[in-house]
Amino acid sequence: AAASTPRAASTSHAADAASSPAPYLQVRDLCKHYGEGEARATVLHDVTTTVSKGEICVLLGPSGSGKSTFLNLVGGLEAADSGSINVGGTELTSLTSKQLGEYRRDKLGFVFQFYNLVPDLTIRENIEVTAHLSANPLPIDDLLHSLGLYEHRAKFPRQVSGGQQQRCAIGRALVKNPGLLLCDEPTGALDYQTSKEILELMENVNRDYGCTVVIVTHNDAIRHMAHRVLRLRDGKLAEGTANVERMAARDLTW
Ligand code: ADP
Ligand code: MG
Repeated sequence: AAASTPRAASTSHAADAASSPAPYLQVRDLCKHYGEGEARATVLHDVTTTVSKGEICVLLGPSGSGKSTFLNLVGGLEAADSGSINVGGTELTSLTSKQLGEYRRDKLGFVFQFYNLVPDLTIRENIEVTAHLSANPLPIDDLLHSLGLYEHRAKFPRQVSGGQQQRCAIGRALVKNPGLLLCDEPTGALDYQTSKEILELMENVNRDYGCTVVIVTHNDAIRHMAHRVLRLRDGKLAEGTANVERMAARDLTW
């Protein structure tokens, strides 16, 4: 499967990361619960992990294990009970809501299972809207080309396939050139072949744009594209099975 083809460890980006894998995302003792009394449920229990700059991290775990909650906390969409989340030197838990909004706008790209495109905007306009919010957007036409969407740019979301809609959603997340790309089940609504294409696109995006990527999925097959694999079980980071070849190639430690 193409998704399991090892990336060339000799790309300049990977080589840089190998010589100094600086941490980009650092999570310490993160706790989150929902509900109170009888209904109280601890969803994340003392989660601690580090993802290096430029890595693709895949977070696995069964449905209900807390994956989306983890992503939403890192994405500043929800507040933690306790613990710390540091993204590129910014401690999220000490930000005001205004600063959190700026963090989401400037540093973060989010990709969801169900694309969430604006139906009455064209493919190009869906990306353009985000570009306008950014101080330093990527050139949209270049991005449309690398996403394979240039000839579809004037179509509306309903006029293109699910895979193309997800490409557009990736473009919308990427156009502001974010440091961190968070993807929640990005291939969950796609067939096998299209999923493979989307994952290959994400590998290219990670290599070409240098963003750190966290992909949440219940699909174990996706682990092959990871530099780092984390596994959540009942809210705990139970097992860390690193992709040994890739770790060795990039001299990263688990
Ligand atoms: P996953 O993404 O791994 O399927 P989630 O993070 O969505 O898991 O959910 C983890 C647990 O937290 C589940 O039991 C879910 O029902 C619960 N949960 C998630 N969001 C909320 C919420 N807003 N209110 C109450 N419970 C929630
Ligand atoms: Mg989820």
